[in-house]
Amino acid sequence: MLRKIILTIVLGGIFILLYAPQTDAAELRIDGKNRFEVAINVSQKGWSNSNTVILTNYLAYADALSASPLAFKKNAPILLTQNQYITPSTKSEIIRLRAKEAVIIGGTGSISIQAANELKAMGLSVTRIDGKDRFIVAQNISKQLSNKGKAVIAYGLNFPDALAIAPYAARNEYPILLTGKDSLPSATKAALREKNITSTVIIGGEGSVSNTVKSQLPSPSRIGGANRFEVAENVIRHFNLSTQNVFLSSGMDFADALTGSVLAAKKNAPLLLTIPTRLPNETKSIIKDRTINTFTILGGKASVNTNSTALLGKTIVLDPGHGDHDAGASGNGLQEKDIVLDVGIRTRDKMVNAGAKIVMTRTTDTFLALRERSAIGNNSGADSFISIHSNAAENPAAHGTEVYYDTSFSSFESRRLAEEIQKELVKRMGTSDRGEKQANFHVIDATRIPSILVELGFISNPTDAAKLGSPTYRQRSADAIYYGTVNFYN
Ligand SMILES: [Zn+2]
Repeated sequence: MLRKIILTIVLGGIFILLYAPQTDAAELRIDGKNRFEVAINVSQKGWSNSNTVILTNYLAYADALSASPLAFKKNAPILLTQNQYITPSTKSEIIRLRAKEAVIIGGTGSISIQAANELKAMGLSVTRIDGKDRFIVAQNISKQLSNKGKAVIAYGLNFPDALAIAPYAARNEYPILLTGKDSLPSATKAALREKNITSTVIIGGEGSVSNTVKSQLPSPSRIGGANRFEVAENVIRHFNLSTQNVFLSSGMDFADALTGSVLAAKKNAPLLLTIPTRLPNETKSIIKDRTINTFTILGGKASVNTNSTALLGKTIVLDPGHGDHDAGASGNGLQEKDIVLDVGIRTRDKMVNAGAKIVMTRTTDTFLALRERSAIGNNSGADSFISIHSNAAENPAAHGTEVYYDTSFSSFESRRLAEEIQKELVKRMGTSDRGEKQANFHVIDATRIPSILVELGFISNPTDAAKLGSPTYRQRSADAIYYGTVNFYN
């Protein structure tokens, strides 16, 4: 029996060693059709049970801005509710968590007495952290935290800046205190004294917290930014935070980021912000600089669109064929090795911009043997492999685009990837459709991940060659490979 257990452990260990890297670099979405559900799904992801739940009104960001550090301290999820009653799905989640205590953030205008009574009727002890205004609520929350000597100061009349720093503040149990732009509220001054704060971090630029306020704070430093996305980016840069796992949420609303912030803190993950339809440049820039490839996306597809995140966390090998003494096909004044390298680099730039990690088999006019290319495909921990070529035939009339896949490994996915890219190439390049084809070319046969070989067009055909020589069409080829890959991952 013992031997059996040991064997199980050893095999289990081997299994983890073999498979852990693949599942590590990934994207996880904590979905939900509304903010209540997202909060519940965050809770289910992070807590199998919890003594305490933090409850905030689903619309009242003002109360909730400062709640993350308290939630983290109590190891409690933040759940959302309506004012007059506890939202039924939230109620079910409180039951699942077997919670004994509910901490209500905000006054009866946010969560009514009836709603609090519902919680009591469920057997929970209920405490309320209240205050005449949001500044006092923040001060009162800070009273529940240990004295760490440091506090975060955020503009209290809007939410985006405070969100970005919430996981960091939560993890370090630094209170998030609120301020007006030009005057420091007396409640915040009082909290700074009560908590023996000796240094402060202002989150946001002078447009949200002025230097007049700054001058009244103990040893202030500022994390600024031209907009909320850059502020979030700068939080990571300022504290040099680990980016092994990064949470991503819409910066256009507070709810998902707020309820996700405690889980992010538990996982030591910073938060980046996005808009629903595309990644803002500021967010892209840090993803690129830090080669971030593991993401937890907060919210449904309406909050963070799948097209903007399809390649997040993906590692893709791009393999421009041939190189150096091996020119590949030539004709009409062109050499295949140059065309495919240019298209490969353009594809790389486009994919990196979308948050993918790209491994190029070559970036210059160098030669690699076929088995070196497939070895890169197999050893880079990549999710897919795309080899880029252009065709040639004796008959100059032969023309069109085709994509090859192989059935030795990942056959189904390889074929789907081929179909998606073929469709985009034909559409964007205006070439004739020669279809997806099966072939056992070494690079796609020996590469164990979904792998395809693209033949952009015929260098030997004058019409195709004109396109292959044109920067506009090379960019279109790159766009096609990009969008085909995005569609594949969607
Ligand atoms: Zn070739």
